Amino acid sequence: MKAVRIMEPENLRIVEEEKPHIDEKNNVLVQVKASGLCGSDAGIYHGTNAAATYPRIIGHEIVGEVVECGPTAKKVKVGDRVIIDQVTNCGHCYACRHGRPNVCQNLQVRGVHIDGGYREFIAVPDEHCYILPEGLRYVDAVLIEPTTIAVQACSRAEIKEDDEVLINGQGALGARMLSIVKLYHPKKIIVSDIFDEKLQEALENGADIAINPMKENFAEKLKEVTTDGYGPTVSIDCACTKDSLGTLIGVTGNAGRVITMGFTTSPTEVTNFGITSKELDIRGSRLQNRKFQEVIDLVKEGKVDLDHKISHVCDFREAQSAFDFNDTHDPSIRKIVFTMEGEPYKVRPDKD
Ligand SMILES: [Zn+2]
Ligand SMILES: [Zn+2]
Repeated sequence: MKAVRIMEPENLRIVEEEKPHIDEKNNVLVQVKASGLCGSDAGIYHGTNAAATYPRIIGHEIVGEVVECGPTAKKVKVGDRVIIDQVTNCGHCYACRHGRPNVCQNLQVRGVHIDGGYREFIAVPDEHCYILPEGLRYVDAVLIEPTTIAVQACSRAEIKEDDEVLINGQGALGARMLSIVKLYHPKKIIVSDIFDEKLQEALENGADIAINPMKENFAEKLKEVTTDGYGPTVSIDCACTKDSLGTLIGVTGNAGRVITMGFTTSPTEVTNFGITSKELDIRGSRLQNRKFQEVIDLVKEGKVDLDHKISHVCDFREAQSAFDFNDTHDPSIRKIVFTMEGEPYKVRPDKD
């Protein structure tokens, strides 16, 4: 079996490894069909993800076909098309006891702490498999995972109808966030990004206001576009740069919530006053808390559309060039997805 292994930061190798076997715990063997390239995969490759351990087969957005089931597997059967939950937890720590396995003290995330999806086969517990909606292509189904991340962040944000929500960053995660924030029908949705093309797409997809902080004064513009110059009442950081936390604390209105999702360990400046004076809630949102079925149901109900969102499909053996291309931050990049069955490198598969 071939796999993409990050041996250490900046060292990516295509390796030949033994095909995994099912056992009592990992009682289902899945033939991986597609796996997405996410910002955190790039972070692990470059050594900027503080949670990762090496060497590691990365990839946590994992879809495929069930090819073998042990006798204890109840949830799926051979032939099922599935997406795999990346969160594995201990079940007994404080977080687990309080229904928050995504921040388990003994958390092991596929593609981060244990081997993930950039390989041809993976063995997992049946309870971590979720059956894909019929007719959804594997490459598009990869997006269920980032959508669960958005659902998680929105649940942490406790969005209400009178909220004015800022989504900072309109990359792949920001775009998924927009699709979920919309379902809460907040009073206003504001998006920001440094690429006008992405802002334009966000406006077409339901954002009310778009701000390019490279071209406008971010704080002033936010005052201008929010009711009574209050500022956004919920700010969700999908850009996750070193300084975005400080910026969002500065612009968010009194009694608001700031949701962080980044993994940088670089210090940034925030002040007590900035948080206390407005009694802000600064809440982290990590991974997702068993949100796969919820997203699959949203797709089936037609409330979330995953078609035509992938910009690049690439054979996983071409991972090095895909990661290099991803580093260029080319504005054409919405989402890069790897396939495991030798599909030729294709740009914008839906448009040719
Ligand atoms: Zn991801
Ligand atoms: Zn736990």
